[in-house]
Amino acid sequence: MPATPENFDVLISGGGLVGLTLALALDQGGLKVAVIDRLPAAEVLEESFDGRATAMGFATYRMMESLGVARHIGEVQPIQQILVSDGRVGSPSRKGGPSSLTLHFDQAETGTGEEPLGWMIENRRTRLALDKEAATRPGITRFAPDEIVDFTILPGHVEAKLKSGQQLVAPVIVGAEGRGSFVRQKAGIRTYGWTYGQTGIVTTIAMDRPHGGVAHEYFLPTGPFAILPLMGNRANIVWSEKTARAQALLAMPRADLEHELARRFGDFLGNVRLDAPVWSYPLSMELAATWAKPRVVLAGDAAHGIHPIAGQGLNLGLKDVAALAEVLVEAANLGQDLGDLAVLERYAQWRRTDTMTLAISCDGFVRLFSNDLAPIRALRTLGLGLVDAIGPARRFFASHAGGAVGDLPRLLRGERLEARL
Ligand SMILES: Cc1cc2nc3c(=O)[nH]c(=O)nc-3n(C[C@H](O)[C@H](O)[C@H](O)COP(=O)(O)OP(=O)(O)OC[C@H]3O[C@@H](n4cnc5c(N)ncnc54)[C@H](O)[C@@H]3O)c2cc1C
Repeated sequence: MPATPENFDVLISGGGLVGLTLALALDQGGLKVAVIDRLPAAEVLEESFDGRATAMGFATYRMMESLGVARHIGEVQPIQQILVSDGRVGSPSRKGGPSSLTLHFDQAETGTGEEPLGWMIENRRTRLALDKEAATRPGITRFAPDEIVDFTILPGHVEAKLKSGQQLVAPVIVGAEGRGSFVRQKAGIRTYGWTYGQTGIVTTIAMDRPHGGVAHEYFLPTGPFAILPLMGNRANIVWSEKTARAQALLAMPRADLEHELARRFGDFLGNVRLDAPVWSYPLSMELAATWAKPRVVLAGDAAHGIHPIAGQGLNLGLKDVAALAEVLVEAANLGQDLGDLAVLERYAQWRRTDTMTLAISCDGFVRLFSNDLAPIRALRTLGLGLVDAIGPARRFFASHAGGAVGDLPRLLRGERLEARL
């Protein structure tokens, strides 16, 4: 006998960092939410699942505070400065550290002058915190491991069928399953994009000298190399390399890989040692042609997967969460149909400019910096020097990094979403 359909206000397919944060935000606004993820929660929370750490912008971190997630994360590493330099492995400047500095941001550029540029948080800790907070909310029902095998758009609602046989009904379904989004494909939404022929190598290192809360990004000819400070004199490394070279590096014994890391680092942080396993991620750009169709909407990497050069992928996804939750909660409070295209388009339009600006800038940066031709080197040094010399330009980039641009949704201002009484 088929299971009795369960009714919700919103179905979220994909309970990753974006999907689960969205569930918490909608629950804060009084909506009843189902989150479906194909992986068991225990697997996602394992230490080996995700080696990345996110440079969470100060505005997106405010949302984590407002949703009650930050209290479970505990102490986090503030980013006090970002130093961006155009470097080449083995160049004399690299020996003593980032002396080839051409661009520098600090706290004064955040606009508030009080918040740091952002917070470095291991994804694993954010996942744990989201999981803990979601467990306290009766308005959130999680189906995992499970997945939607089919859904049908009917007048007034969507009917989804899960692999387990369970049927779920709601006025709207959100695709938040990352780049391979099932909801996006099933809704017939096309994507545009390309691969960069690069792989992101990710690990955590421990070093002898204190990092002082400084994040470094070296633009090396084979791809960007980021040193992102973590609590306890450690740093997360995001090291983009041409894929064939990355595979050779990943196959090396740990001692040889440490040596390769040290060559890129220079010696300004003392000796560096691998402090975690090494993960790798193929790097590509993938943008959905549209984010909203009647009763269907996309958020996070399902809508826009970008290169991690500026550490903005998840920040963009969390900004989607803030905007989408506000639009849906407002619509519910006004008695509107949550799956109405006019409602969903309000969200898509709110997020489109910010996302496209960042996606196009990141793509341009990857092309400009993953290149060792002398005229291009001269051009980018000039560009970075100009941005560094002009205060408003620096502030523009710093507020983008912090996630505080444009018309900010309430959650990104640190406010709460209120449910209708
Ligand atoms: C090397 C690297 C470094 C990065 N560093 C940063 C950084 O510093 N700052 C930053 O902001 N961003 C960074 N990013 C980007 C960031 O990691 C992503 O933007 C973010 O993980 C996207 O989250 P998401 O929840 O949209 O998708 P995902 O993380 O892909 O989560 C998708 C979820 O959906 C589930 N799922 C998949 N398919 C289905 C299905 N059919 N049914 C049900 N569930 C399904 C998965 O199990 C998963 O839980 C980095 C990315 C890379 C590759």
